[in-house]
Amino acid sequence: MKLLVTGGAGYVGSVCAARLLEAGHEVVVLDDLSTGHEDAVPAGARFIRGDIAEVIGDVLAEGFDGVLHFAAKSLVGESMQDPGKYWTGNVLTAIRLLDAMKDHGTPKLVFSSTAATYGEPREVPIPESAPTAPTNTYGATKLAIDHAITSYAAAHGLAATSLRYFNVAGAYGSIGERHATETHLIPLVLQVALGQREHISIYGEDWPTEDGTCIRDYIHVTDLADAHLLALDHATAGEHRIYNLGNGTGFSVKQVIDTCREVTGHPIPAVVAPRRAGDPAVLVASAERARTDLGWKPERADLAGIVRDAWEFTRARHGA
Ligand code: UDP
Repeated sequence: MKLLVTGGAGYVGSVCAARLLEAGHEVVVLDDLSTGHEDAVPAGARFIRGDIAEVIGDVLAEGFDGVLHFAAKSLVGESMQDPGKYWTGNVLTAIRLLDAMKDHGTPKLVFSSTAATYGEPREVPIPESAPTAPTNTYGATKLAIDHAITSYAAAHGLAATSLRYFNVAGAYGSIGERHATETHLIPLVLQVALGQREHISIYGEDWPTEDGTCIRDYIHVTDLADAHLLALDHATAGEHRIYNLGNGTGFSVKQVIDTCREVTGHPIPAVVAPRRAGDPAVLVASAERARTDLGWKPERADLAGIVRDAWEFTRARHGA
């Protein structure tokens, strides 16, 4: 297939672009490099630098079999302070994309949705049928796009899949997390192990969990990427399918820090800090639907293995 990967210079998008190329697809990456890195775009992909809202019509006019839409603003804290950036950057951009796909008859879409669409869950693990009540603007914008996709699929025959990511981590060889403003737990903890920061802050020790810290479901970036390939294969015209992607096992912030200590051999000092706005206490996926419908089987569910891959990537990048 000839596929357009928006956000293919970012962490998840570039890993997915690499896996698509390995599977024999033709890949074009569209990215404005606002947060991505051109050297993360895999060799073999054609790269177009541009703002989706401005160039998407011209790009899709070439003719594509599908779009994988990763490009987005994705910082929860920033989304609470600057919501306009998220409603414009995520929602308006996605509508431009959907309109261009309709105009040019692009048949398939795979969209990066998020566990943040559910908010504080009423049942854990979270199934796709759970109510959606985002606790932050980032999650609200992703949910709004999911709703838009549902109506475009029904009205215009789009074959669409939204994949709701839980906590993506790990690396794929030389491709890993390289955010200018790092907010994610595992890369921050590894910065401590590397000597780039003195300690890790634990955002709250008074959550209603066994050790008082938040619980998340960490999924390896290559397992996540592989679900996108399966989603493309299983998409049906006129349908919008939604799948959770996680391992179904939760780890607390303290357990993650302990695992990082084991993997790196570094003591990693930790300091308890106030809770972070918008954080739910527990997010763990039920990914049964992806397993049943797509035949998706995570191959790298072990947390220590996920951290090891992230650590190898981090050390290689910093020559440590
Ligand atoms: N977290 C933390 N300290 C940090 C960064 C994150 O305690 O420096 C916590 C955060 O509150 C959440 C978990 O680690 O409970 C995972 O956060 P992350 O930002 O990695 O992913 P999110 O779950 O927000 O998508």
